[in-house]
This record gives sequence, C-alpha cells and structure tokens, in this order.
Amino acid sequence: MTPSLQSHHRAYGYVMLGQSATPATGQSTAGQTMIFMIMALIILAVVIVWIFDVHTVLHLKARTQNAGDAAALAAARWQGISLNLIGDLNILQALALSRGDTAAAAQITDVQARLCFVGPLVGLLASQQAAKNNRVYANPDYTANLIAHADLVLSYYAADTNRFPEPYAGAWSEYSGMLANIAGQGVAAGPDNTWYYTDSTDSHWLLSRNFYEAVAGLDWCWFYWHGLTTLQSYADYQYWPGLPAADPANTHNCEVFGLGLLPFTTILPGGAETVARMNRLRAERALSTDTISNEVAGITNTWYGYAWTSWSALAPANDFPILPLQVKPEYDYAGADAVIRVEAQPDSRLPAAFPSIQPFLIRSSPSATRLTQSAAAGGTVTWTAAAKPFGYLTNDTIRVRPDAYAIVLPAFQNVRLIPVDAATGSNIGAYDLDWRRHTQDHLPTYMQSGQAGLEADCWYCQQLQTWEDPAFRQQGIDWLNDTNHPCIPPAGGPGEHGGTRRGH
Ligand SMILES: [Zn+2]
Repeated sequence: MTPSLQSHHRAYGYVMLGQSATPATGQSTAGQTMIFMIMALIILAVVIVWIFDVHTVLHLKARTQNAGDAAALAAARWQGISLNLIGDLNILQALALSRGDTAAAAQITDVQARLCFVGPLVGLLASQQAAKNNRVYANPDYTANLIAHADLVLSYYAADTNRFPEPYAGAWSEYSGMLANIAGQGVAAGPDNTWYYTDSTDSHWLLSRNFYEAVAGLDWCWFYWHGLTTLQSYADYQYWPGLPAADPANTHNCEVFGLGLLPFTTILPGGAETVARMNRLRAERALSTDTISNEVAGITNTWYGYAWTSWSALAPANDFPILPLQVKPEYDYAGADAVIRVEAQPDSRLPAAFPSIQPFLIRSSPSATRLTQSAAAGGTVTWTAAAKPFGYLTNDTIRVRPDAYAIVLPAFQNVRLIPVDAATGSNIGAYDLDWRRHTQDHLPTYMQSGQAGLEADCWYCQQLQTWEDPAFRQQGIDWLNDTNHPCIPPAGGPGEHGGTRRGH
C-alpha cells in the first residue's frame, strides 16, 4: 500500500466519522487529501455520468430512428396497397361497363372514394404498430392532437358540408370515428405531412419553417433564392403580407397520408390504348378471364385519376435535394408519400444530484442545433423520416410513370425511404406541436403588434426576434453583396436514408 493511499484512507475516515480531534501534525495533509478526494470523486462522477449519458442518448437515437423509419415505410406501404386496389377497381369498373352494368360501376366508384380514406388510415394504424414494435410508445401530446382533430372533423367539417363536401355519404362521421379509434390506441408516430383541409397552400414566409431555419443558421443563400427583395426592403412587421386565409379544400383525399387522387367524369383517357393496358394488367393480375371491350373507351364514367406532379417539380427553388437528372423518368412523380415524426424521452435514470452536468452533456451530444432546445424538456430525441411507394407501368418496351395513363392503374411494387425534404408537404410539420402553436397562436398576435406579440420561450419567435434586428439583416445583405458568394444550387442525390433531425 502506497503512503498516499494510506493518507486517503485516513482522510476518508476523518470525514466520514466526523472526527474533530485531528492530530495537529496531520491536519494540513489530511485537509489537502480530502480536497483531492472530493476532486477525484467529482471527476469520477462526471466520467460515469458522461459514459452513461452518451450511451443513453446514442441508444435512444438508434431507437427513434428505427421507429421513425419503420413507421414511414409502413404508412407508404399502405399507400401503395391502396393505390393498387383503386387501380384494380378501375379495371373491374371497365369490365362492368363492358357488360353494360352501370350500377356495379357506380358501386365501385363509391368503394374507391372510401378507399381514399380507409387505405391511408390503415397505414396510420400500421405506422403506430411499427413505432411501438421499435419501443417508441404513445406520445400523449400526439394522441391529444389526433383526438382533437377527430372532434373537429365531426363538428366543424360535418357542420359545414358546403365548405367541406363529403366525398361519399356519411364520410365525416366515419372518418372521425376511424381517427378517434386510432387515437384511442395511442399515437406514437405523428403523421407529419398531414394536410388539413383548413391548411393554406400559400407560400407565406412566416408559415415556412425553412425561413426560421435560414435565420437560425445564417443561411443567406435561402434568402438569395427565395426573395432577396424582402431581405433588402424589410423594415418592420407591417412589411409582411397578411397571413393567408385557409383555402377551400379538396376533400377527396384523406388529410393523413392522402393519395393525391381525384375522381373525374369523362370518357376513358387514352382510349383504346388504355383499354389494351387494362386488359394486360387484368390478365397478369388474374382479375378476370373476360376481356374489356374497346367500346368502354367511348363511355362516360367516373374514374379515379391522379392529381400528381413530377417529383423534380416539387423544388420551390434550387434547394431540392434530388436533382432531376438523378430521378429515373418512371419514378419522377410526387403525390403520395408519408412523413413521420417520432419523439422519445431518455430514461430518467440520471442521478438527480447532477442537474448542472446533465444539460451540458445533452447539449454536447453530436446532433442538430434544435436538440439543444429540447434539452430543457429532458433531452427529447426527435426523428422525422419519409417514405414513398415506388412502381411503374410498362408501355410495351419502356417503363413509364404510374400516372402515365391519367387513371389509376395497379403499378406499385415497392416502398423506400426518401429524404424528408423531397417528400410532399415536408415543411408542414403537422406533429411539430411547437410549430403549430407558433403558427396558430403566436403569429396572429405578432401580425397585430409586432415584436411585443412574440413569445420568449418559443424557438420560432426567437428567430423572428433575430430577424427584426436591422443589423442582422444587414449582415446578410453585405454577405450577398460579395459577388463570390457560394449560392449555387446544392449538389446531392437521393439518400439511402430518409430521416433527418431538421426542424427539431
Ligand atoms: Zn412563436
């Protein structure tokens, strides 16, 4: 045993036993040793907490990422299944029309209208299960949010069927019931690209999360691409155009994981060529041995078709993460995809004795800036992921987009994760509850009274406060006045991994 260790023991004994009768000769040494011991204990504690905390945070990240990815894939899979079913029903409808059975054709249209809701909601249910299988459990705030929306559908939507026309008889009570049923089992995976019928399609900066992130990240290129004039001419809050009123809604698609379809009454688009394609799919999928007659091409009927766009056209400016050239033509479509948000709390096993160390550790973990903000809420880890059904039709020799024939045909074979920024409605943040509070509660006040209406503890309000500072904006103007600024379209391709911490 070394002399120093002996003195450790002696000092320890003195401290523990509270001995006051310390021999005068050993007092100084014992005091120094005691300070050393306390230092060593603190260092040891910091190391233990550090290892434990880093382990916990890393483990938690893996768990939330797996849960988010699995939930997004489950939702997108059901979008693909629903689209294939609606496509099969278009073929069966053509067969009915071939036989002159218009009553059956009308019934099929009704089933298709229901599938536009039931299919995505089964996807919502499946995504909850996928998240829970990965040990991310029901989030009380998410659950409350979905319950509140189910109530809104039953009251607000159902009460004003002029503004929110039912896609089929009894739709709103049925839809509300399904939402409430899913909420009743607890919402773990928030459907983040949910598009409420009351949401606006306006691209007002104050309603774009990208604006706040550009302010927070000093991303002057965002301003360069989205409106340099606003950066240069902004004086105060009265500069903003008024917040847009909600758009009259297209109520044919489910708000959650909508399929982007529309019923349209017309003769068959594509005529005889579409009939030939349907006959081939009918045989391949063993739907019937009867042949669809070419006369169907001339019959007026209600078909379910696509209201999709090209994937590369999603880009609002030059900040789209997928370059058009990198998307194969048959996959260059956008209209049905799923964005999921999951949150998980670290297990609260950290010793309460280290309140000053804990936030430091969480802040120092390698992740996006917004994790810092959530440290106050106990180190919540958030993950958003996006997935999309993939498929194509073959036009004899070449592959074409699933919507190449305008009407829905069974075309989907696969589902894959995509970058969140390349998903439709990725900027909505329907389950980013801080964001919804900001847009619904804080912005109207700000538009009335400027900075006085901002909330100090809201991250988005904090960015607005920064934006209001003329010196902040001048910094960007100066930066962009340098003609060597690097605001060129970003390179990048379709990532293998679809998730992100963006906007947390
Ligand atoms: Zn706010």
